[in-house]
Amino acid sequence: MHSSPYDLLVIGGGINGAGIARDAAGRGLSVLLAEQDDLAAATSQWSTKLIHGGLRYLEYYEFRLVAESLAEREVLLATAPHLVEPLAFVLPHEPHLRPAWMIRTGLFLYDHIGGRRTLPKSFGVDLAGSRWSAGLKPRFRKGFVYADARVDDARLVVANALDIAAHGGEVRTRTRVTGARRDGGLWRVALRTADGAASEIVARAIVNAAGPWVKHVLDSVRPEQPGEGSVRHVKGSHIVVPRVHAEAHAYILQNADKRIVFVIPFESDYSLIGTTDVPVDDYEHPEISADEVDYLIKLANAYLDRPLTTSDVVWTYSGVRPLYDDGSSDPSAITRDYVLKLDALPGAPGPERAPVLSLFGGKITTYRKLAEHALAELAPYLPAMKPAWTQAAPLPGGDLPGRDRNAWFAELCRRYPQLPAPLLRAIGTRHGTRAIAVLGDAKTPADLGRDFGAHLTAREVDYLVAEEWARTADDVLWRRTKCGLPMSPAQRDAVAGYMAGRA
Ligand SMILES: Cc1cc2nc3c(=O)[nH]c(=O)nc-3n(C[C@H](O)[C@H](O)[C@H](O)COP(=O)(O)OP(=O)(O)OC[C@H]3O[C@@H](n4cnc5c(N)ncnc54)[C@H](O)[C@@H]3O)c2cc1C
Repeated sequence: MHSSPYDLLVIGGGINGAGIARDAAGRGLSVLLAEQDDLAAATSQWSTKLIHGGLRYLEYYEFRLVAESLAEREVLLATAPHLVEPLAFVLPHEPHLRPAWMIRTGLFLYDHIGGRRTLPKSFGVDLAGSRWSAGLKPRFRKGFVYADARVDDARLVVANALDIAAHGGEVRTRTRVTGARRDGGLWRVALRTADGAASEIVARAIVNAAGPWVKHVLDSVRPEQPGEGSVRHVKGSHIVVPRVHAEAHAYILQNADKRIVFVIPFESDYSLIGTTDVPVDDYEHPEISADEVDYLIKLANAYLDRPLTTSDVVWTYSGVRPLYDDGSSDPSAITRDYVLKLDALPGAPGPERAPVLSLFGGKITTYRKLAEHALAELAPYLPAMKPAWTQAAPLPGGDLPGRDRNAWFAELCRRYPQLPAPLLRAIGTRHGTRAIAVLGDAKTPADLGRDFGAHLTAREVDYLVAEEWARTADDVLWRRTKCGLPMSPAQRDAVAGYMAGRA
């Protein structure tokens, strides 16, 4: 038990909660992160996995959000180069949907408003016979290419959690906050673990980063003032199909109603296609509908030369965006920007005012900046807080020499000459420089223990359990790795059996 009050309790182990807790722990605060399920168990594992400014948000005049996101793209490419990598996007031109001048203007802004430093500028291309049109119908003659980045979203959350622990903070998964009340200028917070054990902790301040549950949590800690700040739950779904072309770039496809869908190379053998915008009431168990599958396949088939059918779909996933309710009627138009709502006991800001800060909306891309804004709001209440520090600090595993993934894979192959290169690449991508901690003194494949397939071995599973809070097969197969995707059901069962045997 923690004897003195925590400075900060963060509710929610998605990207925003993990990012805030990491930043706060590095500023010298005593921090507890409580997550009711696994890290990244909700929206933060179900994104399109882009670190992007959001080209389409320019049409909604979201210049602040786009500029901040583009600047953060540079920060994340530099501080987590094992998890975030540049990705070229091709926009096939459809003159009746958006005229070329409009696209050029948008791309000009996109190139310039975010302080782009490392990524190339956008340009126009002749698609006919070019690699930029791989897999497209031959009718597309003209296109535009621009740069963005992609991320392993769930691993980015885990990397932040590792840094919370590295800075002395506490991460408790499978620990739900069931209630909180103010008492003498502090928060008394009730926790319940997945196996039913109840406990109470005391904290000076709370951050409510509960994502889709944000309003539910806010109402439960502040029942006397329900209603302030509202969240719109908008489901987005993706389908995964066998790779639709062999090139490295993604497509951004335009629908007649101005919505867009991405087709992104995914996990070497697949393409990820998404997303949709569907307002929902049930935010706890989102699932793709037949209409969403049809919409995504129909739009992809308007562009792809080899038509897809539902039988090509090997995996689907759906997540719920916890968007701030700005009153828009069109779900695609609701702001993707974030809003912070602070509530504290009356009086001048200072210690003993028991603040609670709730987050609405936001993107994976902006999580680090959101954390800085959140802590700036809380600083008057937590005067011991040190200055911001995360802008140039590598995330755990992100200190790749020269920030160069390929050079790092080559180094791993040099250090472990008897281990297969694809396995080293998989572990090097997931763990960056921490791959050394995973592989340890292993020399041969046999030293890594049981091989479960898809480059997952007992050695890595043990590491994920010991160091990364993995408890179940899903934690390993779908969040700490994506090995579940290429594995057969029998291989997945073998991982589950192994983990059950360890417990
Ligand atoms: C379809 C889709 C595509 C997207 N694509 C992108 C993209 O490409 N790029 C991008 O930048 N952003 C994207 N986003 C947005 C991004 O995914 C979200 O903004 C982000 O993941 C939200 O993170 P969060 O931490 O706020 O919420 P979450 O990840 O949902 O985390 C909240 C956590 O709080 C926990 N929790 C709730 N109640 C309690 C409680 N009482 N006690 C303890 N824990 C609790 C939950 O279990 C959950 O894990 C996308 C979103 C969706 C849905």
